[in-house]
Amino acid sequence: MAAAFSALVLPKWTDDSSLKSAISWVHNHQLRPINFSTHICVSRAPILRRGNQFKRPVCQSANPAVEIKKQSAVAKSAPVLPFRVGHGFDLHRLEPGLPLIIGGIDIPHDRGCDAHSDGDVLLHCVVDAILGALGLPDIGQLFPDNDPKWRGAASSVFLKEAVRLMHEAGYELGNLDATLILQRPKLSPHKEAIRTNLCELLGSDPSVINLKAKTHEKVDSLGENRSIAAHTIVLLMKK
Ligand SMILES: [Zn+2]
Repeated sequence: MAAAFSALVLPKWTDDSSLKSAISWVHNHQLRPINFSTHICVSRAPILRRGNQFKRPVCQSANPAVEIKKQSAVAKSAPVLPFRVGHGFDLHRLEPGLPLIIGGIDIPHDRGCDAHSDGDVLLHCVVDAILGALGLPDIGQLFPDNDPKWRGAASSVFLKEAVRLMHEAGYELGNLDATLILQRPKLSPHKEAIRTNLCELLGSDPSVINLKAKTHEKVDSLGENRSIAAHTIVLLMKK
């Protein structure tokens, strides 16, 4: 019940003069106002910093315990956040004789990703970043790799579904930052095509989609051209 003592709640004001006096009271006691919508809530932390030499306000119409209880109930029922952040990671083994698809673009190389679908490491981690931001199950749970339906599927199908879920939840993409990690081939000649396709799939302006590529300094499977990985972070904004 420690949370019940984390804030003090002043009475609801009824007119401008009582609002002004409430604000003045908060400033006089060097407190930090939290919410002025219906009540004034002030953080208890400044009181403790002043050695508890503080006169507790008289609470006339608001019951702090009830107010805190209400806030706890809201928190438990997943509050609608103005922003949501998500991170995605994916890695695939590279095998000779397979196509290398990155961001929906067929990249010429002597090997490609071993996967149930088309093995698009970038789109997979973008999907997971969006699903993660929405607090939904990951790509492997939504599109199981033992389901014949997804055998050889284009990963754009997964991304379109993630985007649909994002809009259904009332969010739009703020920005996206992705990093591809591979030793070969050099990605710079293909980066713009990948980014353009990603923008189209996401329905986003290129200015909010960033793509970086780096090697793994010839270390481990990534650096030995035996695997490819990608990280993505997305920021979703409430519409
Ligand atoms: Zn994958």
